[in-house]
Amino acid sequence: MKRRNFLIKSSGVIGAGLALSSGVSGAQKLALAAGEEQDSGKIQVTPEYRVLGKTGMKVTTVSYGAMRTTDPAVLHRALDLGINLIDTAHGYQDGNNEIMVGKVMKERRGEAYVCTKIHPAPIDKMETMFEESLKRLQMNTVDILYYHNIKELDVLHNEDVLKLFNKWKKEGKTRFIGFSTHKNEAELLEQAAKDKAWDVILVAYNFKKTPQLTKAINAVAKAGIGVVGMKTQAGGYKDSKMGSLTPHQASLKWVLQNPNVHTTIPSMTTFEELNEDIQVMGQKMGRRDHDLLERYGQVIDPIYCRSCNACTASCRHGVDIPEINRCLMYVEGYGDFPLAMTNYAELSERENLSQCSRCSECAASCIHGIDLPNKIKSAMNIFA
Ligand code: SF4
Ligand code: SF4
Repeated sequence: MKRRNFLIKSSGVIGAGLALSSGVSGAQKLALAAGEEQDSGKIQVTPEYRVLGKTGMKVTTVSYGAMRTTDPAVLHRALDLGINLIDTAHGYQDGNNEIMVGKVMKERRGEAYVCTKIHPAPIDKMETMFEESLKRLQMNTVDILYYHNIKELDVLHNEDVLKLFNKWKKEGKTRFIGFSTHKNEAELLEQAAKDKAWDVILVAYNFKKTPQLTKAINAVAKAGIGVVGMKTQAGGYKDSKMGSLTPHQASLKWVLQNPNVHTTIPSMTTFEELNEDIQVMGQKMGRRDHDLLERYGQVIDPIYCRSCNACTASCRHGVDIPEINRCLMYVEGYGDFPLAMTNYAELSERENLSQCSRCSECAASCIHGIDLPNKIKSAMNIFA
């Protein structure tokens, strides 16, 4: 295959619905040869693996967040390089993302774990969504099915949903079950460590998150739950103050310093992003990384929402401010307007900006110093 311009390939990679391989051979140096116009020169990659809790899955510490990928060649290259976990979701790109992942994985069965997600919805709707996801992915079994974007304990504790996910697990439609969360993460993880009802948690985690979240991550890992980190780049904002330096590698290294984060799923849309992220495997934080993160932190402090939920009480009409900020981040940080709109559309009337017509002045306030009235104004211009 033309894409496979590499000299040595990692071994022991296992795939969706297959039995576990007897062993991944550990850190092998891969030398990637130039040969396609998208690659420039040679890059050195050292695959690094961790075990995803009690699932036993040996996963590359940098895995593939497919959320925004439209070019399947980038995903093919990631597989060539040994990345062995791909993350998609029912809602990404209106289903086209699962279709793209399905086409790639049909050619490359057994080379990577495939994970998808479905949002909270009435049970019959969730059944339809998952059936549709399996069809789009052209698979009978996925490796992990996540209950997507969980914000509150009562949603996490919905017994009907837990029964449904466990039924799918028994039926072999998913090997493992998990949930994902971008908000109120510490509380949800602390509870999940006690419940032990889910096999894997996909959690927004980066150098701007709280020590309480790090503690909760350590607790769930101790309970045998697999931990996958997302939103590792703290928004991926670009700023002239950073010059040509990008904090992406330093941000990923920061997350992977914690051995209780078993893998990460940075979003990769280009060969350049893939090359940048994949080289982080096996690397430690150095002085330059700390300096870069400090500078990046100063840049994003006035704008980056940590989803800590502390502002909720300041809005008497119940607008989901952390979620509004996440949608804004997709526009301002990622430059991905459709992704922002998709996420905004998932908010209920009760939580979205339609509530703001009831205020003559915004009273929302952030404990981390974000100018929320101004943020809400920007969000109104974009979404309302
Ligand atoms: S806006 Fe501020 S207080 Fe509200 S969730 Fe974000 S960081 Fe926390
Ligand atoms: S204007 Fe501010 S305080 Fe009023 S509903 Fe909107 S977010 Fe809440």
